[in-house]
Amino acid sequence: MSEQDLFPVPETWAKRAYADKETYDQLYGRSLADPGTFWLEQARRLDWIKRPEISGDWSFDASDFHINWFTDGQINVSANCIDRHLAKNGDDVAIMWEPDDPAEEPRTYTYRKLHREVCRFANVLKAAGARKGDRITLYMPMIPEAAFALLACARIGAIHSVVFGGFSPEALAGRITDCDSTIVITANEGRRGGKAIPLKANVDAALQHTSCVDKVVVIQATGGDVAMTEGRDLWYHEAAETVEADCPPEPMGAEDPLFILYTSGSTGQPKGVLHTSGGYLLWASLTHHYCFDYRPGEIYWCAADIGWVTGHSYIVYGPLANGATTVMYEGLPNWPTASRIWEVVDRHQVNTLFTAPTVLRALMREGDEHVTKTSRESLRLLGTVGEPINPEAWRWYHAVPGEGRCPIIDTWWQTETGAAMIAPLPGATDLKPGSATKPFFGVEPQIVDGEGQILHGATEGNLCIARSWPGQMRSVYGDHKRFFDTYFSTFPGKYFTGDGARRDEDGYYWITGRVDDVINVSGHRMGTAEVESALVLHRDVAEAAVVGMPHEVKGQGIYAYVTLNANTEPSEALRQDLVKWVRTEIGPIATPDAIQFTPALPKTRSGKIMRRILRKIAEGDVSSLGDTSTLADPAVVDDLVANRVST
Ligand code: ATP
Ligand code: MG
Repeated sequence: MSEQDLFPVPETWAKRAYADKETYDQLYGRSLADPGTFWLEQARRLDWIKRPEISGDWSFDASDFHINWFTDGQINVSANCIDRHLAKNGDDVAIMWEPDDPAEEPRTYTYRKLHREVCRFANVLKAAGARKGDRITLYMPMIPEAAFALLACARIGAIHSVVFGGFSPEALAGRITDCDSTIVITANEGRRGGKAIPLKANVDAALQHTSCVDKVVVIQATGGDVAMTEGRDLWYHEAAETVEADCPPEPMGAEDPLFILYTSGSTGQPKGVLHTSGGYLLWASLTHHYCFDYRPGEIYWCAADIGWVTGHSYIVYGPLANGATTVMYEGLPNWPTASRIWEVVDRHQVNTLFTAPTVLRALMREGDEHVTKTSRESLRLLGTVGEPINPEAWRWYHAVPGEGRCPIIDTWWQTETGAAMIAPLPGATDLKPGSATKPFFGVEPQIVDGEGQILHGATEGNLCIARSWPGQMRSVYGDHKRFFDTYFSTFPGKYFTGDGARRDEDGYYWITGRVDDVINVSGHRMGTAEVESALVLHRDVAEAAVVGMPHEVKGQGIYAYVTLNANTEPSEALRQDLVKWVRTEIGPIATPDAIQFTPALPKTRSGKIMRRILRKIAEGDVSSLGDTSTLADPAVVDDLVANRVST
């Protein structure tokens, strides 16, 4: 099986898509040749209070460092996501909500209803003292009110900071304090996989460690009882009865902040990534339009959590700016059964599904019958984001859930980039399993070596972006110097992504993983993604994580953590077989020096493998594992340490 296999654009897609090959080439060419005009033209897809005449104005150089887009424009993000659709499409469904428990009824909100809900929410926030520029932290389950709250903040010009509802009180407190939030929005409880999550109790615990919060707005999401602190806590449903129904949107400068979002923390201390209004919304809306080729009347489902940037850009802002019907799901992809995700697809007749490789690998492991017993007839396009997708998982996604008829849109991007950066367009890009393919309009990727030399043609190295794009983050909240130091000092004059990439002879990009994770075996540099993909290709392997470890002869050796498929037992024979397997798949240079079988890998709450911890364990340095508070299940670490393979 060669990963170079090509899946050409299906004829039907070439005909119906917003961009075919020619259109992509032409638009991409213009976006680089004449960015000033190109971006002012694209900006017209938004409704401006004052239309901008200034396009991008930026410099990545230390002496003159600044990033601005559409500076003279005025806009309100919530009006773009709601009000402007009312006249013609007010009765279209904006949000379709699927509850955790499949026995419960879904809820739908038309754009008109959404308008009423968001106006009320905005007035409740105002009554609680919120003003333009204030920071408001959201700690919410995946209920429609989470979307209302985001849009309500945007409506009054408050800056939202969403903290994923799975984070601990300590992690929440740190994020509240870092941006000095005055209001917290939460629910009495959340629900996931049939379990109650004590959100309000966690907020109470977090607020023991902070002093900036004046008000806590509490949604009654379940029947669960919670303590309310007099003078500080208010029930949303009570407050909503006392406020006016209408709330005019606040005119905002294009560069006024829209939100702060802390990155998932897989590499260390999370950063408060700051995004602003005009450029971010344009980026979310335009990429949603082209990458998912959304058409009026279609049902679009991004199965992420609102606590991650994917939820911001592709559940709320992108689709609603485009007048789409966006599905919001409260629960887990594999609860009550491994068929749930496909049952939701059938129930709501979903046309586009957007999820993460970690979800796909987990579902693959359970067996195809959970998929094939559902219809999935409505599906026409499948997306993925979050990690490099192993070619094996890509092929499975394409063949089994997609029955070979749905293009796979693998979107590479980061919290920092706002929305998709390298991704195929379904009508324009022939696909290669495991490749994020080609850059989106205005994105100029560069691959550089360790010294910052630009590498041309087919090559591999550090992935940088050579110029600004409208959706780029503008700062690390409260620490502009950290922003510059983190992203612009390693390779002067460029944005450094922290990721490695390979570019093939067709100009396709293959993300090889984080640069920190690159392994150097006897002078050969290897991306962890490549070795992991080889392991996952083995029929007994469900998931693998590979890290480097010190090796006397080779400089670095390869240490692999392997999770087996359900009902497969680890054995010495299997270990040897895996070693042989990798040697044949990649070559002797990639021979694993150690393989540790483990029932689970340490993952962040967003499902990403925390290789930083795995590296420490492989090195035998288990005394200083660093911040593990963003791990989904810290207990996994103890098991890994206890069963470390000595080398
Ligand atoms: P932190 O920056 O705190 O360590 P994080 O990088 O995991 O956290 P995100 O911004 O959510 O936080 O993730 C972006 C990263 O995820 C990218 O830099 C890349 O490593 C990886 N990634 C996302 N999508 C893809 C994709 N389609 N292919 C390959 N890698 C991807
Ligand atoms: Mg990152």
